[in-house]
Amino acid sequence: MDNIFDSHAHYDDEAFNEDREEVIQKIQNAGVKRVLNCSSSIKSMYTTLELCKKYDFIYGAFGVHPEFALDALQNKNKIGDILSEKKAKAVGEIGLDYYYEGYDRETQIKSFKEQMDLARSFNLPVVIHSREAFEDTLNVIKEFKGVKGVLHCYSGSVEFAKEVLKCGYYLGFTGVITFKNAKKAIEVLKSLPKDKILVETDCPYMTPEPNRGKRNDSSYLLHTLNKMSEVLNITYSEAAKLTFGNASELFKIE
Ligand SMILES: [Zn+2]
Repeated sequence: MDNIFDSHAHYDDEAFNEDREEVIQKIQNAGVKRVLNCSSSIKSMYTTLELCKKYDFIYGAFGVHPEFALDALQNKNKIGDILSEKKAKAVGEIGLDYYYEGYDRETQIKSFKEQMDLARSFNLPVVIHSREAFEDTLNVIKEFKGVKGVLHCYSGSVEFAKEVLKCGYYLGFTGVITFKNAKKAIEVLKSLPKDKILVETDCPYMTPEPNRGKRNDSSYLLHTLNKMSEVLNITYSEAAKLTFGNASELFKIE
């Protein structure tokens, strides 16, 4: 069985409240050897930390999603405290989301920059969420030279991908690549250097075909990796090994 690294999961999500332990057992049986659990709110940083302490193979990204940008600004010291934990491997997920009208852009940019600053001082990579905000995301990335990371669930263009690659970033791909209408993501995937590709679930969301619509978990990465190997013209084993190595490199896990 090939080792799998799920570079972006949310096992702290309430969607797993009923059967979290069983799911975590199930994914281990399916060959998932490493998981980066990404927090999204202040509260979820603490549940993520609990998971990291309970399970050896779960690591943490600590930070606040643009949806809760104001919370991040008001709790910067809490984020800083938790980033000194041994299993803190990244700052995330942070970024910009211009899809929802309700999130104030100014506050988002401020919160994003504050957390990029934390990543720089802790010498940690970042996990970036960017939705319909690529220009501004790139500007912030360029402002924080030396900080590296991943653009998770990548939905941008080939051109923008080239720009972030120049800054040393990786791109993460979810089950979306198995969807029929995934032309754009496939085109980007094909254009990338192989050492910059990560695989992720973003579970409980983004479930790949043929399970689209169900709750997602890391055992379904099998389908995403299958599709990825097809696109990259490599074997399934090679795709698993490649993405495992890339994520271990970025998040500095030996
Ligand atoms: Zn996420």
